[in-house]
Amino acid sequence: MNLVFLGLPGAGKGTQAALLAEKYNIPHISTGDMFREAVKQETELGKKAKEYMEAGELVPDQVTIGIVRERLAQDDCRRGFILDGFPRTIAQAEALEEVLQELNRELDLALLIDAPEEELVERLTGRRVCQNCGATYHVKFDPPEVEGICDECGGKLEQRDDDKPATVKKRLEVNRKKTEKMIDFYSSRGILTEIDARGEIEDIQEKIIRLIEDGLNDN
Ligand SMILES: [Zn+2]
Repeated sequence: MNLVFLGLPGAGKGTQAALLAEKYNIPHISTGDMFREAVKQETELGKKAKEYMEAGELVPDQVTIGIVRERLAQDDCRRGFILDGFPRTIAQAEALEEVLQELNRELDLALLIDAPEEELVERLTGRRVCQNCGATYHVKFDPPEVEGICDECGGKLEQRDDDKPATVKKRLEVNRKKTEKMIDFYSSRGILTEIDARGEIEDIQEKIIRLIEDGLNDN
């Protein structure tokens, strides 16, 4: 089962991908983790990626693809994988197809986890972080017992600059444009499926599992 997860920030893509990976015992490969791992293990590509990151530059596609290729060739991906946060551009999506072809594999499904804009804004702007211990809360979905105070340590809860409404809206807009290209790409390949991300985490997970198992039964 080879999957790509697509979705805007706040849609719960990472959470759903992690749950699904656990259920099917396949790796959940997020771009961030993959980069950190390559840098930590000091692979050739990891070293290159580190140079760009330290210079504050975007890691070029060639390096990113190389890291993805190395990761997907590892033993634990033989039964399947979930890519989360990759690909983000058409060039990356095409390169991924080539990598998979080399490995004699193909993608089974591109899952779009989607929710209306207002919902995403509410989820993202409601986030609060403890200044002392880093615990995270949500004013509506996971509030502390006392407003503005951390349950764990009594520290002060604050909203990160990244989570302020103007920044959140800009972030969503930039991401939406990128995601739309990926939606078009995987629609053209006939493997795009959309999941409504409104509601409880467990219910959404169940929907995803049902969808995948129906798909597997059809083949
Ligand atoms: Zn705290």
